[in-house]
Amino acid sequence: MPALADADRYRPAHCPQCQAQQPLRGHGFYRRTLVDTGFDGVIRVRRYLCRDCQRTVSLLPQFALPYLCFSVSVIALFLVARLREGRTLRTAVVAAAQPHMPYQRGRFWIRRFQQQVKPTSSFQEGRVSPNQPRASTLRPAASSTR
Ligand SMILES: [Zn+2]
Repeated sequence: MPALADADRYRPAHCPQCQAQQPLRGHGFYRRTLVDTGFDGVIRVRRYLCRDCQRTVSLLPQFALPYLCFSVSVIALFLVARLREGRTLRTAVVAAAQPHMPYQRGRFWIRRFQQQVKPTSSFQEGRVSPNQPRASTLRPAASSTR
């Protein structure tokens, strides 16, 4: 990936942690696993170092989330299948192209998602899919796997 090899291309102009107003220094890469709908492997993530606070800043690609090995699209496919379409946990992991993934991981994503969604959200109020029973959109984490 030539764009990734060029440290200047996405170099932050300031430190997001201490707000030092000087460009960060290239600090190599680290490797992390990533699971996407058509990919399961290791990616390189560029890292920068702040000379003021000596902390590193990683340049995660848009499709990756901090501390989660599954991509944004896999998690989104799962959440839409489970919360919007009212699918079971087992069929939602298939919809997310992860048929061998333990469904407990999906429950974890649902809990995280619901903790971050505002109470007025259409997901929690069950307005997104009026044809689905309200309880299935309200309490998927508490339901069985069916
Ligand atoms: Zn800093």
